Amino acid sequence: MTIAATPSFVFHRIAGRELPAVSRAVGAVVWDTAGRRYLDGSGGAVVVNIGHGREEVAAAMARQAADAAYVHGTHFTSEVLEEYARRLAVHAPGDCRRLYLLSGGSEATETAVKLARAYHLARGEKGRHKVIGRSVGYHGNTLGTLGLSGRPTLQAPYEPMLRASPRAAAPFCYHCPLDREYPACEVACADDLEAVIAREGPETISAFVAEPVLGASAGAAVPPDEYTRHVRETCRRHGVLYIDDEVMTGFGRTGRWFGIEWSGVAPDIVTCGKGMSGGYAPVGAVLTTDAIVEAVEGAGGFVHGFTFSHHPVTAAACLATLEILERERLVERAATVGARALARLQELRAHPEVGDVRGRGLLMAVELVADGRTRRPFPRAERRAEAVAARAFAEGLIVYASAGCATGTEGDVIMLAPPLVATDDEIEEMVAILDRVLS
Ligand code: PLP
Repeated sequence: MTIAATPSFVFHRIAGRELPAVSRAVGAVVWDTAGRRYLDGSGGAVVVNIGHGREEVAAAMARQAADAAYVHGTHFTSEVLEEYARRLAVHAPGDCRRLYLLSGGSEATETAVKLARAYHLARGEKGRHKVIGRSVGYHGNTLGTLGLSGRPTLQAPYEPMLRASPRAAAPFCYHCPLDREYPACEVACADDLEAVIAREGPETISAFVAEPVLGASAGAAVPPDEYTRHVRETCRRHGVLYIDDEVMTGFGRTGRWFGIEWSGVAPDIVTCGKGMSGGYAPVGAVLTTDAIVEAVEGAGGFVHGFTFSHHPVTAAACLATLEILERERLVERAATVGARALARLQELRAHPEVGDVRGRGLLMAVELVADGRTRRPFPRAERRAEAVAARAFAEGLIVYASAGCATGTEGDVIMLAPPLVATDDEIEEMVAILDRVLS
């Protein structure tokens, strides 16, 4: 049965399009209620790291729901949450081993930003309230997190309501915001953070937020190796907290537990979501250091929290997900399978409209351009990324389309981020379908 067959009372995300209804999903494959098979080439929105249909995750959630589905985070802790935090601490970047569990990535960003402010207040630095984002960049869809993001098309309708935050140039070499060429640029985008801090006044800056690999806003753009080390050092020098946004890159997606590990630097606060539960429960989280928690608690505690923070069933889903990631060595698998997949995807450069193929681990993207030599994007009115994604969907391949990486509104990207369990054959089939669609 499709939505078309019965009147729907759901306010769907996309208007004017009939959505098939999902029936079941296993590994990297989804079936709709009409029996059609789809390869999940993007894990939905880069979520399904451990693969669909994991009965042990469902069983762990059901057990916890039957035992104690909900308690408020100010009344109780739970054994499952404590156990999860202990197990996750082993993999956490740097010293960020203290877990604040939430229900989504945007909540995680909001929490990180408030935590940074609480930390500075606790230390008597009352002037520090600004958070520097990057252009381009994405940290969420609430009013607060949109203000931090560099996504003009998502921001435009709400512009008068957004609190604009200072933005530094993103390390996005294919469309360098500073119009420079790597390596001759000597990573000028990293120096740009220094310039923004100086312009705004270091004593007003609370934090800098950055994705270790740019996600949907740029399509899996990997920064030059030295960039992250450089901006980390700039933050340290100015007493600015470094918020590492791992909502898309965390939990193995780039071939490391967290994307920032590739650069070897330690952040102050980490935001998580998506692959943390593999999609089995709506999730987000903040990880931070003992030093930050102790400073905030020493000054009276963190004035924050949501009804569903620290949720036991969410913790059960995340713990079962973590056990699968560890036992099946899926993080390591993302690195090896990802390297092969990216090499295969590079062959799509033979299509004149493929301008770039990039990524790290199993976070990959193909950028479509009107002119490969000048990297000129297609006019937005053509909605190329959406058209290619729709054709792929019709051929049984789910990809994640994104627009705006080149000029803010223009720049078409097709993201591929299959479950970390996808087989080489499945990835081959995904690339073959995309190849056909681009032809
Ligand atoms: N940060 C990054 C890097 C993301 O990719 C996203 C979502 O795509 C978010 C934050 C927001 O997460 P959510 O959609 O779960 O609120």
